[in-house]
Amino acid sequence: MGTESNIKLLDENGLRLDGRNEMELRPIKIETNVLERADGSAFIEWGGNKIIVSVYGPREAYPKHTQDIDKAVIKARYNMAAFSVDERKRPGPDRRSVEISKVISEALSSAVMVEQFPRTQVDVFIEVIQADAGTRIAGLTAASVALAAAGIPMRDMVVGCTAGKIEGKIVLDLSKEEDNFGQADLPMAVLSRSGEVVLVQMDGDLSVEEFNQATDMILDATKRIAQIQRDALVARYSVETQGGE
Ligand code: UDP
Repeated sequence: MGTESNIKLLDENGLRLDGRNEMELRPIKIETNVLERADGSAFIEWGGNKIIVSVYGPREAYPKHTQDIDKAVIKARYNMAAFSVDERKRPGPDRRSVEISKVISEALSSAVMVEQFPRTQVDVFIEVIQADAGTRIAGLTAASVALAAAGIPMRDMVVGCTAGKIEGKIVLDLSKEEDNFGQADLPMAVLSRSGEVVLVQMDGDLSVEEFNQATDMILDATKRIAQIQRDALVARYSVETQGGE
């Protein structure tokens, strides 16, 4: 982010390197129940991102001192595979993945009816197998679908998107080059019905007007992405009722 470079991110017509205009999302595809042994799972392809999410639980929280007597604990673990990025990533947790796991756990806890199953934990494993910018938001969006597919009671779905600034212009859903060489990156997630913001982070600088423009774009995009989440869950339900699974 903010790295000085000569890379032109917008052409003379104001189009981006991949041909998108400023409001356009990369293609998004979500599939549920892709794993047999998880209680719920989802696979998301968002542009060049490929992420698989598995959900286990609720089950008794262990070790016992991690139990909350009033509610379930949502434990998300975000992991980027060594082969998921251009330059091999050292395997195992690092500061970035610990931070992302924390913000995703908190966002999901706002959506799950955690008070319904105290002393338990729900594990959410987010495995990034191909990364292309926006992985935390794509992982969180898929995690919400995987939780719903696991039959975990939820008051709402979590859906997110990023916006950012490139060459002085606010654009939706940053690509890898835009993330690396742009001026700002704003990942954000909301509860889809209530609109409550459950994750917001920012890298780089935006003025108040730019920030408002970026959040308006994100909120509009989350409505489209929420429909993709619903379609994925409905597709699963129709397969099951036809006895196809
Ligand atoms: N990235 C990378 N190596 C790393 C971390 C990130 O190549 O160790 C790439 C990856 O493609 C990622 C992008 O940089 O999607 C942007 O990373 P950021 O930390 O902004 O998180 P994200 O946008 O994926 O949520």
